[in-house]
Amino acid sequence: MPDYDFDLFVIGAGSGGVRAGRMVAQLGKRVAVAEESRPGGTCVVRGCVPKKYLVYGAEYGAAIEASKKYGWETDNAKFDWPTLRDAIQNEVSRLSAIYANILEKNGATLFTERAEIADKHSIRLASGKMVTAETILIAVGGRPYIPEIKGAEYAIMSDDAFLLEKLPEKAVIIGGGYIASEFAGIFAGLGVRTTQVYRGDKLLRGFDDDVRKLVTDQQNLVGIDVKLGASPIEIKKSAGGLIVSFDDGSKIGTECVFMATGRKPYTSTLGLENAGIEVDKNGAIIVDEYSRTHAKNIYAVGDVTNRVNLTPVAIREAMAFVDTVYKDTPRGYDHSDIASAVFTRPPVGTVGLTEAQAREKFGDDIKIYTTNFRPMKNIIAGKDQRCLMKLITEGKNERVIGIHLVGDDTPEIIQALGITIKGGLTKADFDATCAVHPTLAEEIVTL
Ligand code: NDP
Repeated sequence: MPDYDFDLFVIGAGSGGVRAGRMVAQLGKRVAVAEESRPGGTCVVRGCVPKKYLVYGAEYGAAIEASKKYGWETDNAKFDWPTLRDAIQNEVSRLSAIYANILEKNGATLFTERAEIADKHSIRLASGKMVTAETILIAVGGRPYIPEIKGAEYAIMSDDAFLLEKLPEKAVIIGGGYIASEFAGIFAGLGVRTTQVYRGDKLLRGFDDDVRKLVTDQQNLVGIDVKLGASPIEIKKSAGGLIVSFDDGSKIGTECVFMATGRKPYTSTLGLENAGIEVDKNGAIIVDEYSRTHAKNIYAVGDVTNRVNLTPVAIREAMAFVDTVYKDTPRGYDHSDIASAVFTRPPVGTVGLTEAQAREKFGDDIKIYTTNFRPMKNIIAGKDQRCLMKLITEGKNERVIGIHLVGDDTPEIIQALGITIKGGLTKADFDATCAVHPTLAEEIVTL
């Protein structure tokens, strides 16, 4: 048996890498984790966590406005960006330190430098140090993708948005996915005159069509000007800031262009070819159901594999990897029916098949139950935003196969409703469940 420096070497201290590193170290194995940035990864440092705080920040503005209708006098309310930005960065630093501590407390070695694969069992660190490991786990995540248009260097991306010195007065956000739709709500909520530009006809491609339509229609209710059917072709500097030109012939003058045009696996300079690890056309590491790459001692989890790019999924994949390699219980992670949320304002909660996917799979053997209403809180507040609740069932027993919600608190609601789909519950089970009144969620058992 060759004598390796470590039993496991993890590249990337994000959600998947830290979970795996910690669990394997707890089993008494010799574990090392390398991280070139701050421990915590995209989610903690430049994604889910700081983004959710920005959403909270943006919602206070709307709540202050609405509170007047509820009798509050709030005329002198003002927003100060550095206060929110710095509070969030302090929290990110606290969490990042916890991630580092959790590894070290469990006996793992943390290298705070870049690591690349030198061969199947060797890792080259940025300092030049070479280390060997019996097993390698790649969990390096993804990086923002920016289309190669003229002047793209003038645009910011999500990583930059958390650290802005000052908030722009006016911004153009390009994209119709999660990040563009969420940040449009954040920027507009913090007082930035925001235009969201998407090349398609409805935001949030891949979501249920009714959700897409309602989110697209309602972005303007929180102050976002949505422009559809256009892609940027050039960004130019101008006396007053920037000018973005679009392929439909239009131009917008702005202070800030924010590209939220997707993310790509961060694999191009990782030395994968040195170990015979193959990637797909997007650069995602190809793995089998156990997250094993073409090199049999090297595994990959999380966004770098581009399966379902969500933090909790990376964590589940990491736990399946630990069971497979270290607990003699090989298992993959089932990627079906994963509940998720988009933190637009109001947010989206979704789990299971969309109506289009359900029709493709089950033909006419599906039933759709939908309600669209103005929630109670918005009536006195004088807000026009509506909620959507949609339930999709399949077969004679009416097994529930898809739930799609738009409205306040729907990310919280969908977490619990996800259990009903995993558990194979039917519409009759929903009907037999007594409503909690008055709530938004009660609508799902009274459809
Ligand atoms: P998405 O893939 O969700 O969206 C990318 C958007 O950019 C799409 O609207 C796409 O259009 C558009 N786009 C791509 N290329 C171009 C181009 N050349 N010109 C114009 N538009 C373009 O990526 P995001 O960056 O929003 O998010 C990345 C991932 O991060 C998500 O897939 C998600 O997994 C994760 N995430 C999850 C969150 C959550 O759970 N709440 C929050 C944020 C991120 P088209 O639709 O036509 O392809």
